[in-house]
Amino acid sequence: MKKFLLLLAVFGSFVTYSQEKCAAHTKHNERLANDPAYAEAMHVAQGKAKAWQQTHQNGTEKVTLTIPVVVHVLYKNAAQNVSLAQIQSQIDVLNTDYRALNQIDLPAYFDSLKADIDVEFCLASVDPDGNPTDGITRTSTTGGTLFGYFSPFNDDMKYDSLGGKNCWPTDKYLNLWVGELFPGLLGYAQFPGDPKVNADGVVITTTAFGTTGNVDPISAGGRTATHEIGHWMGLYHIWGDEDACTGSDTIADTPNMAAASNQGCDSLANTCSNEDAFWGSFDPTDMVFNYMDYSSDTCMGMFTKGQKMRMHGFLNTDPRRMGLATSNGCAFMGIKEDVESMFTLSPNPTTDNVRILFNTGDIATVQIVNAQGQLIAVYDALSTGAEIDLSNLEVGVYLVQMMKNEKLVGIERLVKH
Ligand SMILES: [Zn+2]
Repeated sequence: MKKFLLLLAVFGSFVTYSQEKCAAHTKHNERLANDPAYAEAMHVAQGKAKAWQQTHQNGTEKVTLTIPVVVHVLYKNAAQNVSLAQIQSQIDVLNTDYRALNQIDLPAYFDSLKADIDVEFCLASVDPDGNPTDGITRTSTTGGTLFGYFSPFNDDMKYDSLGGKNCWPTDKYLNLWVGELFPGLLGYAQFPGDPKVNADGVVITTTAFGTTGNVDPISAGGRTATHEIGHWMGLYHIWGDEDACTGSDTIADTPNMAAASNQGCDSLANTCSNEDAFWGSFDPTDMVFNYMDYSSDTCMGMFTKGQKMRMHGFLNTDPRRMGLATSNGCAFMGIKEDVESMFTLSPNPTTDNVRILFNTGDIATVQIVNAQGQLIAVYDALSTGAEIDLSNLEVGVYLVQMMKNEKLVGIERLVKH
């Protein structure tokens, strides 16, 4: 009987989870109810973030945080062993979305609220032991404790012992696990302040990760990760996680919303009129364009200034999030790789030779710089498609710089194994 009741309880929470495409809040609520240590830790983290916000009302100093990312690929077949291109496409979406570089038509009253979060993401170039890495781990597994799928109940994807992959230090890297979740569930995240140190990070189902490769067309915008990382930086769903106009995401400039959008993009919907005092007598429509809604990937395109303040509240007070600012997980911090790449290197990582393909023009000067910033080699009048012999180079991470008329026009990171 006891076993039956336990089964029933598991099935009950399973039904709740299976109705959501993001399980972050369901898991959060379940733990708030059943785990007093979690509830207390959350209370403390929220208090500290709120206090920070109150002393930074006039905005944050303009410092861009670059977060080193490790992607843990968990695969049961070749298709799930996602390509570097698919992984890079996800990093590109994050760098577009978190810097407000995406193009989207918004009503004027939302456009003025659209925020550049001043956060960027890089695939880690240095692993926890100080060795060069491409920022990706790949694990062939038979794991998955929920009918053969990875499970938000026990975080099986996050532990070697459960068929997953152990995290890299969660105060130095954003751990992004990519594996097959139960159908319908696209991802979930751990909120800042959670005492479970080694489960800290974000989980994305394989087919909702990135924009190219093994991606389901319905979630091919890479916005599942944008949404989940929003949770990981402390954001709640904008509808307040109830089916009424009473709940709140604690943020004034995201209008009240009765329920989540259902995958579409109903920009005329206006489900609540009891807005925060921030809005005065104006009753805005639902902010279906917000990354923290459930709208379609193509509909989403903004975080608000209020959400930015909340995220920065946690980034500046939660010990693990604060650790990211001093992580050397990405060598060459402060040197920005081009959002729009000027050239490509292949293969990268490489063992001896690398081919350089220019995106525009056919002649350029190319320089190679090491992790200490020293110039290692210069190639003048290089043509597109040229091969460079790197066999004399020590194993490590390098910057390849493209110069035209003595002006730096592009930078790419190169990993030599
Ligand atoms: Zn969510």
